[in-house]
Amino acid sequence: MLSTDRSLPNTGHRYIPQITSLEVPPSPNQELMPLTAQVNSNNQLEIGGCELQLLVQQYGSPLYVLDEFTLRTACSQYRDSFATYYGGESLVIYASKAWSCMAVCRIIDSEGLGFDVVSGGELYTTLEAGVSKDKIYFHGNNKSAAELELAVEAGCTIMVDNWLELKTLTQIATDHSDIPVPIMIRLTPGIECHTHEYIRTGHLDSKFGFDPNQLEEVFAYLSQQSSISCIGLHAHIGSQIFERQPHQDLAVVLVDWLQKAQSYGLPVTTLNVGGGLGIRYTESDDPPSISEWVKAVSQAVEKACQETGLPLPRLIAEPGRSLIGSACVTAYTVGSRKEIPNFHTYVAVDGGMSDNPRPITYQSVYRAVIANRMSEPLTEEVTVAGKHCESGDVVIKKATLPKTEPGDILVVLDTGAYNYSMASNYNRIGRPAAVVVYEGEANLIIERETYHNLIERDRLPERLVKHE
Ligand SMILES: *Cc1c(COP(=O)(O)O)cnc(C)c1O
Repeated sequence: MLSTDRSLPNTGHRYIPQITSLEVPPSPNQELMPLTAQVNSNNQLEIGGCELQLLVQQYGSPLYVLDEFTLRTACSQYRDSFATYYGGESLVIYASKAWSCMAVCRIIDSEGLGFDVVSGGELYTTLEAGVSKDKIYFHGNNKSAAELELAVEAGCTIMVDNWLELKTLTQIATDHSDIPVPIMIRLTPGIECHTHEYIRTGHLDSKFGFDPNQLEEVFAYLSQQSSISCIGLHAHIGSQIFERQPHQDLAVVLVDWLQKAQSYGLPVTTLNVGGGLGIRYTESDDPPSISEWVKAVSQAVEKACQETGLPLPRLIAEPGRSLIGSACVTAYTVGSRKEIPNFHTYVAVDGGMSDNPRPITYQSVYRAVIANRMSEPLTEEVTVAGKHCESGDVVIKKATLPKTEPGDILVVLDTGAYNYSMASNYNRIGRPAAVVVYEGEANLIIERETYHNLIERDRLPERLVKHE
């Protein structure tokens, strides 16, 4: 987990869970919390110096609470680790699909990182946030012609995924750009890793990237083009990965292809090794630290280059989850309770699959605490249910909590990645607000959707209008 030598605000005590009558599952420990989490003298959870219960009073619930210090620390850990372990030039780019919004872009841009975007909408968000074009890399396995035009006009680097895109882009670049458009080629490396099948991307049967058997033809084509300039290669093996070996294997595969691409005369000097480093959602998750991951990847690239006699390429990594996942929590208000005698207790909260679709999509497991009962003994194992009309709308199947009451503030940990960005309006529930907290100050970064927001783009044909 993150550690830091920057000083933390210190007005309370660290959270030490007290488990009394239950053994499993264990309660969340401090390691699953944002770095600034502490318990104040009222036994209330604070993050970034802000009391969660007060934040909910002010901004309502559900509420995403982003800890700026934790996010900035992860950015600097990636940056500093590459400076320490990699002998060549490097750039860390944030996979903004994890959580794309203006404030997150500003924080990460101010840390000197770049951005990976996968749609016209994410590209637009980074541009509006003032990110410079040379820091933006545009991914996607089915970019539209309109998206490619936007990208060419913005001047960002385009990660080309397939033949249709390559041909379309060559034409757009000829028509719309005076200078060669910088591109990188995404390939399918043929590497398996252990993660959920929906977030695995490196195996050969993946929808992403050129198959290895197409690559030489691609390189030959690129060597004939003057409107586009291939500056490097990219691959990404998947997400929430704890092993280092597949990332090291990937480095070897990419360096090999880099050498082949150079033999076609292409000016390829950049390698993008993707993202994928996992985070701790529960006590039993044991991913490498950011610096351990960077060290393993850097050394693998350096070793492969040494063996092939290639000069060190400019190295790009594009983490999403491991930058922002642990920096955010979601605060809910506890509502109804259903006890099925001798069997099961459900505690319902005021959100669920519309603000966090990961449990129902990937069977993801989360931990939670009760922000206003931080020192009370953990005496119950309950299922935390959402409020949607769907039996599968469960936030946490087995949560070990103190005895809760309606009105309590239940805080789900590690919700920074793929929560807001995958949120929906299912059941016409407005998406939550988000605040950023830092040194005792909270600022709204995303407004809560109102009922009006839910219908403002609905249109009624005249013949359906009700005339009283
Ligand atoms: C999703 C994705 C990432 C980021 O993955 P994380 O697991 O969030 O680090 C990076 N690159 C590409 C191409 C992706 O699709």
